[in-house]
Amino acid sequence: MFLHELKQPVSVLRGGGPAVSGRLARLGISSIAGLLSYYPRDYDDRSTLVPFSGFARNAFVYTQGVVTAHEWFGFGRNRTLKILVRDDTSEAALLCFNRPFLENSIPVGSRVQVHGKFQFRYGEIQSSAFEIEQIAEGHIPFQGLLPLYPLTEGLSQAVLRKLMKAALTMYGNRVENELDPEIMKDRKLLPKATALSLIHFPGSMTEKDEALRTLSYEELFYFQLGIAMRIRKRRGQEIERKPTKGILEKQLLERLPFSLTTDQRRALDEIVHDLNSPHPMARLLQGDVGSGKTIVALIAALHTVERGGQVAIMAPTELLAQQHAATAARLIEPLGLRLAFLSGNVDDAPRRPLLEALANGSIDIVIGTHALFSSDVIYRDLQMIVVDEQQRFGVAQRQALFHKGNIPDMLMMTATPIPRSLALTLFGDLTVSTIRTMPPGRKPVQTHLTKAGNEQKVYDFVRGLLKAGQQAYFVYPLIGESDNGELKNAKQMAERLAKEVYPGFSVNLLHSRLKEDQKRSIMDDFVRGKTQVLVATTVVEVGVDVPNATVMVIEHAERFGLSALHQLRGRIGRGTSQSYCFLVYSENITADAIQRLRILYSTNDGFALAEEDLKLRGPGELLGTAQSGPFQLRVANPLRDFELLKAARSDAFAIVKDDPGFISVEHAIYRQTTDMVSGKEDGYPA
Ligand code: ADP
Ligand code: MG
Repeated sequence: MFLHELKQPVSVLRGGGPAVSGRLARLGISSIAGLLSYYPRDYDDRSTLVPFSGFARNAFVYTQGVVTAHEWFGFGRNRTLKILVRDDTSEAALLCFNRPFLENSIPVGSRVQVHGKFQFRYGEIQSSAFEIEQIAEGHIPFQGLLPLYPLTEGLSQAVLRKLMKAALTMYGNRVENELDPEIMKDRKLLPKATALSLIHFPGSMTEKDEALRTLSYEELFYFQLGIAMRIRKRRGQEIERKPTKGILEKQLLERLPFSLTTDQRRALDEIVHDLNSPHPMARLLQGDVGSGKTIVALIAALHTVERGGQVAIMAPTELLAQQHAATAARLIEPLGLRLAFLSGNVDDAPRRPLLEALANGSIDIVIGTHALFSSDVIYRDLQMIVVDEQQRFGVAQRQALFHKGNIPDMLMMTATPIPRSLALTLFGDLTVSTIRTMPPGRKPVQTHLTKAGNEQKVYDFVRGLLKAGQQAYFVYPLIGESDNGELKNAKQMAERLAKEVYPGFSVNLLHSRLKEDQKRSIMDDFVRGKTQVLVATTVVEVGVDVPNATVMVIEHAERFGLSALHQLRGRIGRGTSQSYCFLVYSENITADAIQRLRILYSTNDGFALAEEDLKLRGPGELLGTAQSGPFQLRVANPLRDFELLKAARSDAFAIVKDDPGFISVEHAIYRQTTDMVSGKEDGYPA
């Protein structure tokens, strides 16, 4: 019955008529529960009274006084009312721009309460941004914090506050606690009703913080509960399988021109251990650009093939998928395995037999783009999925591939290390393997910051490397000319570099608008050293691996994000020669961009960069649109609330372990009382 009340439409509230309801709907609020969980974005602090004389020491004046006079200044349409008010300490002037009506509503002699920002100008304490309200003798001023909500057109703070007050009085104080009393005591949480009341109308910042803490905990707890239940469900899925012997792995390792690093070996062992356990794998393999994740994934795939399963390896771009396919062909085909490549650009003629081969099981490993989960692609026995550069894919895409198999093992790879706070939320149900060290013999890339105008020196330096037989990337933010023509672009610079700067060398241009087969042949030429200079856009950002390319010049570097720059820089430093990255930045650069370039200059460590990036951009933006779907925390911030997050995680996991039945009921209740979307739809194997 109680739940039923909270699910009533806002129109049952006084002041919640059709017009207001319609506007609330625009904010995504339809029910009382939705309204109560529409939290303020900030507060207007009215906890202390500040008289006029205190205007300079405080952000705001908040006082009571008497109107002593009306004056007018300016002429004609600019004629403006000035209201003089005296409180116990001083007199001040209120400049009523666009508010001539105050002449009648606030007559001389009235008692008023004033709130506003004041300055000392023209010999008086003045304000043009103020609130004024007529009050009765003996009126006790409100002291506390006023909530400031995100608004929509036609809906004022006052209306929303009034409605919120009504909802809190009628229903809010009857909201029951959902969390276990033990947990509430241990974690020192407020009762839910109190927390709700205080998040909207706190008496002080301390009260607000306490309410926020309780609500954040609750949110994190349910989020973690979702994760814990999913892990549990996965553990409940038994797959009968015998450990693989690793025959194919041994054969491959013998053919490999290098041996695995300790970190690669450990990551591989962890993966193979999962593959041999009776539950499906859900693992994230993270390692900085160039750390050698591909070979680890390929060897892991061999284990699945050894027991007769199929493997799909998905990459975000055709270029990268092709590169993986080439690596696999070189290393794996000689072992007698059957490989295939599939992308949207594979024509109908070769595509049909390929699909047939996938369906009848005569292909062991298929490498490709998102075409791998097209509706007409059927696998005979897809047992393992590898998603490279997983951050490039949306939740739905990973799910779609997942559903092509019968609870397949899932290996996600990323070169963007995920800060721990996010790893526990976003990837909370994945086990993580990390490759920290680089293959031996690599020298860290030397990064240089160069102001636009000095690029001639950089070009000359690059020429020296080209003469020594090495190769270079030049990266630009745009393919062709921009609207205002202010930025250098790839097309124009490719021409200029070829004609004027490097006439003796072969220069080529690569960008996303070229046809796939064109891209492929351009890339092939660069890989084989036929071209020395590759002018490109961020198409070369992910995955591309050409060890002989030792220098990268990024012009208008201020235009790129931190992780994009790091990924770009990761294209070099892949061989044994010293590599160089030049970040050329323009005159008009923002403070944020300067900060990004400084960070990039100061470290090559992708883990450190990821932490900095998180601080700079906040979790939402860092995850990008592809990941924002599952990530719907409303009050909690994993970065700020890391300790709380750990507590919530441990509590949630403990409960699922003890009493899974109880949880699903509680969970269901929670989902009814708030509008929060918890874990369920987050794209990882359920
Ligand atoms: P990423 O982790 O960025 O995907 P790659 O898998 O593309 O990195 O590997 C980068 C390069 O390092 C490749 O040329 C690969 O052959 C090479 N490599 C990988 N592992 C080793 C190793 N143990 N020793 C030497 N080179 C290696
Ligand atoms: Mg890679």
